[in-house]
Amino acid sequence: MAKKLSKAERVKALRDKLKTQDLGGGGAGFYSPKVGKNTIRILPEVRDMDFFFQPVGRHYFPDGRKVYCPSFTTEKEKDCPVCEIVKELHSIGDKQSKKLASSLGVRRSWWMNVIDRDNEESGPLMYTPGVMVFNSIISLINDPDYGDITDIDEGSDIIIARDGTGIDTSYEVHGRRKESALTDDDEMLEEWLDKAKDLTWVEVSEDPEEDDELSEGHAVHIVPYDRIVEDFGLDSFDDEYEEAEEEESDRRPKRKTKRKPVVEEDEVEEDEVEEDEVEEDEVEDEVEPAKEVKRRIARRSRRR
Ligand SMILES: [Zn+2]
Repeated sequence: MAKKLSKAERVKALRDKLKTQDLGGGGAGFYSPKVGKNTIRILPEVRDMDFFFQPVGRHYFPDGRKVYCPSFTTEKEKDCPVCEIVKELHSIGDKQSKKLASSLGVRRSWWMNVIDRDNEESGPLMYTPGVMVFNSIISLINDPDYGDITDIDEGSDIIIARDGTGIDTSYEVHGRRKESALTDDDEMLEEWLDKAKDLTWVEVSEDPEEDDELSEGHAVHIVPYDRIVEDFGLDSFDDEYEEAEEEESDRRPKRKTKRKPVVEEDEVEEDEVEEDEVEEDEVEDEVEPAKEVKRRIARRSRRR
């Protein structure tokens, strides 16, 4: 009994800790490679994770809100209403629709726990690389000279060389030549594996008030299909979009050539630089009425 209690207390303490790291922390608990050379160690899977990484897709709305893509994040176990709209927009096929589609389109990253060798005191941090870095990590693992680089005894640190910032960022990833233990300190090892986050996705309910409880300290929350539709006003998206299009063709026979540059939407995959600002995405922050979102989506498509 006493043992059970202490376990519960431990879980509670852990949840509390995770909460303070997630909510409004603005990047606390996340790792981002600095310009230059970085040495990190990828942690193996912990708790419910099958592998050391969790694919995470996100959609960003014109009003700044974002939502995890249920489809990409669950590897197609769940459907995503935003992806469906993106697909429709692509099939409409004109330039504006394509632009909107590309800004709404899923941005893919692969989340993992890492130790920053230059900052081990911080313990495990979540790293959210995009396609390019993740591919390099896969190549290392497929390379017989490296194998499972996340192995706590015989894995390897990796070096990430980052060049540039913003959309000009590029990365090169290498493995350390020598294999090495995650740490030689057993206590440290236990602490790190304990503090590493379980990155498996969890589905929250239709009720935002239950989010906290259901997410159980997991970083990746899937919101049910219908709730995404409602929260983001997607049910009448098509109508709004068509209206906006008509208005545009009435009002503006000539397209302006100069416009706000499209934010790094095409590059995001290589450019998960701004994670730090991205991580406060907790479903309960999303209070803006759906109507407003629809209006903004419409206004945005009008602008383009
Ligand atoms: Zn999606």
